[in-house]
Amino acid sequence: MFDVLIIGLGCAGYTAAIYTARYKLKTFLVGAEEGGMGNTAAEVGNWPGNIEIKGPDLMENFKKHALSFGDLVTFKISWVKEITPIEGGFRLILNSGETVEGKSIIFATGSVKRKLGVKGEKEFSGKGVTYCATCDAFFYKGKDVAVIGGGDSAVEGAAIAAQVARTVYLIHRRKDFRAEPYWIDQVKSRSNIKFVTERNLVEVLGDHGSTGLTTGKVKAIKLDKPFEGVDTLSVDGVFIEIGSDPAVDLPKKMGCKLDARGFLKVDEAQGTSIPGIYAAGDLTSGSNHFAQFATAVGEAAVAANSVFNYLQTAKL
Ligand code: NAP
Repeated sequence: MFDVLIIGLGCAGYTAAIYTARYKLKTFLVGAEEGGMGNTAAEVGNWPGNIEIKGPDLMENFKKHALSFGDLVTFKISWVKEITPIEGGFRLILNSGETVEGKSIIFATGSVKRKLGVKGEKEFSGKGVTYCATCDAFFYKGKDVAVIGGGDSAVEGAAIAAQVARTVYLIHRRKDFRAEPYWIDQVKSRSNIKFVTERNLVEVLGDHGSTGLTTGKVKAIKLDKPFEGVDTLSVDGVFIEIGSDPAVDLPKKMGCKLDARGFLKVDEAQGTSIPGIYAAGDLTSGSNHFAQFATAVGEAAVAANSVFNYLQTAKL
């Protein structure tokens, strides 16, 4: 029986494991996607101690640190299919059918990118439509692309895409952007970014290929209002960056309470509404919903400390 089961391999999961290992707790660290959302940051400029570092490099450092405690941390890449309460703890059922038991849980499952829900989006997903501009922009050297959204992800994505693409259409439904002024300055300084504001993407158009829908590629996008006299823009790639929803399926199924916005409700000790279950990072109601490396890491340290206290108090 593990002392703690940590679910999620982003910055919150790795940090929680670093702390639980230093508390000498037998830790099981599991998740499906190594590095989580942190891996999608092309350039991280707000991680204290590194003036600038690439997201995947930062996540690799986190992982190395979390796995530097020998037998104390057992690491597994897998989806968790189901969790059931058992006497004195919880049982995880992994996708393979393998089961793992632990006395407590820290959920660090982060968030899932939102879909736009427009015509052609699903059909051309992976064929020109993607949900991570910073990850995929480099495949579009010399081409024309569109980035949808007005937050940090979209504006950072447009700035990165503009380094390689010929033209980047930054399409935002409002006039004002909610991204950090740092990123707004970056996009304003690039002559190949066109600001398509107060416009919505209504359809992704593409070539359906000779053998049907599955072989086609994105060719253009349609807007709800004309831009520079036309409502259809020729593009090869569409990066949808309209935010994320908290990944709360597992704790929700277990009966953990959510807040009004659908985030996993946590108290100041990062405890959920079920004893023995804690959470940290982008899925929680904590840190004023400010999803950052720094906040996720802070929440994870608190969650690990709370697990340590819980196991001692509950004499588990
Ligand atoms: P976000 O801040 O929630 O922004 C989402 C953007 O998409 C908003 O501009 C929103 O428009 C727009 N949007 C939402 N639904 C839409 C729809 N159906 N149609 C058209 N537009 C839609 O999400 P995010 O940019 O992914 O950022 C999430 C969190 O990660 C934030 O806390 C952010 O600070 C953090 N983050 C930080 C960095 C960084 O620090 N470098 C990088 C990436 C992400 P409105 O503006 O009209 O609401």
